[in-house]
Amino acid sequence: MAKKQFKAESKRLLDLMINSIYTHKEIFLRELISNASDAIDKLAYLALTDQNVGLSRNDFAITLTTDEKMGILTVSDNGIGMSREEMEENLGTIAKSGSYQFKKTMEKTEEVDIIGQFGVGFYAAFMVAEAVSVISKKYGEEQAYLWQSAGADGYTVTPCEKDGCGTDVILKFKKDTEDEKYSRFLKDYELRALVRKYSDYIRYPIRMEVEKTREKEVPEGAEKPEKPEYETYREIETVNSMVPLWQRAKKDVKQEEYDSFYRDKFYDFEAPLSVIHTSVEGAVSYKALLFIPAKAPYDFYTKDFKKGLQLYASGVLIMENCEDLLPDHFRFVRGVVDSQDLSLNISREMLQHDRQLKLIAVNLEKKIRAELEKLRDNDAEKYEKFFDAFGAQLKYGVVADYGIHKESVQDLLMFRSANAEKRITLKQYVDAMPEEQKKIYFAAGEGLGRLAQLPQAEPVREKGYDILYFTDEVDEFVAQALGVYAEKQFCNVATDDLGLESAESKEETEKRDEEAKPVLEFVKNTLGDKVREVRLSRNLRSHPVCVVPEAGMSFEMEKYFSRVNPEFKEKVGRILELNAEHPVFAALRKAMEEDSAKAEKYAKLLYDQALLIADLPLEDPTAYTDMICSLMQ
Ligand code: ADP
Repeated sequence: MAKKQFKAESKRLLDLMINSIYTHKEIFLRELISNASDAIDKLAYLALTDQNVGLSRNDFAITLTTDEKMGILTVSDNGIGMSREEMEENLGTIAKSGSYQFKKTMEKTEEVDIIGQFGVGFYAAFMVAEAVSVISKKYGEEQAYLWQSAGADGYTVTPCEKDGCGTDVILKFKKDTEDEKYSRFLKDYELRALVRKYSDYIRYPIRMEVEKTREKEVPEGAEKPEKPEYETYREIETVNSMVPLWQRAKKDVKQEEYDSFYRDKFYDFEAPLSVIHTSVEGAVSYKALLFIPAKAPYDFYTKDFKKGLQLYASGVLIMENCEDLLPDHFRFVRGVVDSQDLSLNISREMLQHDRQLKLIAVNLEKKIRAELEKLRDNDAEKYEKFFDAFGAQLKYGVVADYGIHKESVQDLLMFRSANAEKRITLKQYVDAMPEEQKKIYFAAGEGLGRLAQLPQAEPVREKGYDILYFTDEVDEFVAQALGVYAEKQFCNVATDDLGLESAESKEETEKRDEEAKPVLEFVKNTLGDKVREVRLSRNLRSHPVCVVPEAGMSFEMEKYFSRVNPEFKEKVGRILELNAEHPVFAALRKAMEEDSAKAEKYAKLLYDQALLIADLPLEDPTAYTDMICSLMQ
């Protein structure tokens, strides 16, 4: 029969497995058992609502059978099974979660580091087997099928016989070599050790026939031999303890166990940053095992990412991604929740309104926040790492839903501080404020260097007040949503009233404004509609000009809106501010008196400079440079 070909990318992974020099080939067993357990989960879930399944919780099992002479190990399950199409689709392609993630990472990393850390899935079998056969019968179907492959040259699928639904994965081991004794995987003690090491927590019994020894019975009436005689016999034994990790007491679980459980279940390459293991008895009882990943998954900030926790009701998986258990601002959390207070055959729609579930969600949110606060206060380095990965998510959390979550998130935020030259929390900012400082100052825009140079910030810096640098585009929206923190208003140094006491008296200011009037009018006339207003600045010190927005939106927000929505045409009104104390101002006045064409050039140049400093585009960069050249000649 003609062989079917593996899809190209699958073939690449397959080749990698077949030729693998990876030293922990034993993980193939973990992968096959984990698939078997998933398949049983699916049928067990069906059995909750479908009487016809005819199997109850205690009937499900995974069975390991060996044939030492033939060099064959079979991993069987009585789970959901696969149809012919599913066999082709699932075993001929890497499109599935685990192996797909693996492939993504494989493109970047060395083979050897990553095999052990990932769920490489079914293909791991090819690290140890020269041929793999899969016999499977899908629940509810009459016909079973046999999938066979001896490696990269393809596979066949043919009809076959099988009692009952489920899957047998049959491995014909490779021949032993100097370096690798595949035959060890046929020994009871080795298999048992591997199951205990990698798959102990699997919630279904993993059974195998093991050889045991017992004292020979002496037939009645016969004489008892001097020395007891022994005989061997074979018996089916359940090898795993079947206690899921989250059901075990925290003190009995090792960090490695948490780590490998997390990597395995959530397909991460790195160990989690933090583990939250909690057991609650009360109005609603549940156990939860939650993880804060060390890095954002590649699709985290896209629509493809699905938030949610795995939900179990008394040990039965009822939902893969229960969204309602996690608020959006903590959507990066992974984990499982198991409660005996949830009804087993609750529908997904009903679950949404379930009181118990809501209570769990509220508790979990508190737990997660407490864990993050602990990190923030006790392990700055870890918290930085966390914030790099998920800080943006927290900020979105403040802004989302009209800010109703802001209170619960605000103290987890961090911004870069000009004075501390690192990220600090809002509380740290406020705690360090001198008594007379009234506002929380921030500068928004791209690039720390540019922000540090912002002309309008000079008066704030003169006073020694700290400035928070808002370099994420969401930051200004955060300040807007928060409005105040610890009763202190947020103040954009580039645009808002700095609220600083000025040394000048009111009369002095008015006098200065009056004197400047002709210059301001001249500049306004020269620039025309480009600016709404030209006025004297209260904030500039060493710079001659700046441009500030009319009340309402800031330039950063304007930039943001026009990027996310190309239709967005609304321009924020520009106000040009001049520094009357600056020598350039005097030069402008002088030019007005002597050479008005030159003065017009000055006015235009100053405006363009102000745009540049504000990181706004010049309308006509060529005209700008032409003007500079003509003044230099
Ligand atoms: P993953 O488990 O990460 O999805 P695998 O390569 O291990 O990737 O398996 C691919 C798919 O094949 C699984 O998602 C599942 O649909 C199917 N499969 C594998 N083993 C079994 C099994 N024992 N019973 C039923 N389906 C299985």
